[in-house]
Amino acid sequence: MIVVMKPGASKEQVQHVIDLVREYGLKEHPIYGTDRTVIAAIGDKRSVDKSAIENAPMVEKIVPILAPYKMASTEVKQERSRIAVGPEKFPLGGRKVGVVAGPCAVENADQIFRTAEAVRQAGCIGLRGGAYKPRTSPYSFQGLREEGLKLLSEARKRTGLAVFTEVVSVETVEQVCEHADVLQIGARNMQHYALLEAVGEAKKPVLLKRGLSSQLDEWLLAAEYIINAGNPNVILCERGIRTYEEYVRNTLPLAAVAELHERTHLPVLVDPSHGTGHAHLVPAMCRASVAAGADGLIVECHCDPEHALSDGAQSITPAALMQLMPSLRKIAQAIGREM
Ligand code: PEP
Ligand code: MN
Repeated sequence: MIVVMKPGASKEQVQHVIDLVREYGLKEHPIYGTDRTVIAAIGDKRSVDKSAIENAPMVEKIVPILAPYKMASTEVKQERSRIAVGPEKFPLGGRKVGVVAGPCAVENADQIFRTAEAVRQAGCIGLRGGAYKPRTSPYSFQGLREEGLKLLSEARKRTGLAVFTEVVSVETVEQVCEHADVLQIGARNMQHYALLEAVGEAKKPVLLKRGLSSQLDEWLLAAEYIINAGNPNVILCERGIRTYEEYVRNTLPLAAVAELHERTHLPVLVDPSHGTGHAHLVPAMCRASVAAGADGLIVECHCDPEHALSDGAQSITPAALMQLMPSLRKIAQAIGREM
């Protein structure tokens, strides 16, 4: 349920409600809005009569939360969440659309530094690159791991870009946190609940990709795991889903962006690289994503896609990225946003 305080409720009055919520065996999540405070009370299913809380001073009303995901829902918070990422604290989820680009995997120093430089010059806000790669085949390149993380840290130092990189296991969360600005949870791990809880305890924002065949409810419940574990800074990433189609690696359902903006206050990014699997389709789907209202994009970009160690076919070149950016800017402006 949500306890809505009257405007002007004091800190002590809010605290009194929090104390009651705890007494009822629920967990409180206060949300301090511009004109009023609401306290989401979540957890336990015992049938104590909680409506008495309505009598507490300065409580306006109690509203049930109908969505299965509570904290992620617009029922609890209508204002869009803005999540500050990277050294420049770019506010993902605000008016500005942010583009993140970089290779699928960090391969070597020269590759990541050259790409980072190009990505910065194109006007992106973040650098992507996997150091730990969850590969379908055990014989494929698995990533440079810690060495890759150190290269990403150095790339951030050189460019000021926010580093987005994947974490694949509970044991490496701490290590990845030392080097990353945003912890990526890959599609294959969207329902790895122990990992979701582990990044929920971390202090860095999380980019949660949609599972290969997950429905929106399942995806939002995965986000709920992270928020419930203590980390409200979750960014969703639509990366396409498995369908019967063969002309694409995945089908990219952009209606999800609009639907998510109704259901959740969390920022939504789109990954048209994994969402199509083919570099020639990426620019068009980047433009379509911005038009659909995406808060940002995450795009695979490689200086030499033909020799990439992973996902070369879906990686655009720095030149293509450079060419793409002005058209994205125009689309953003056309829908009242900025880039
Ligand atoms: C990636 O970002 O390189 C990746 C493995 O993505 P996904 O988890 O969406 O497949
Ligand atoms: Mn990839």
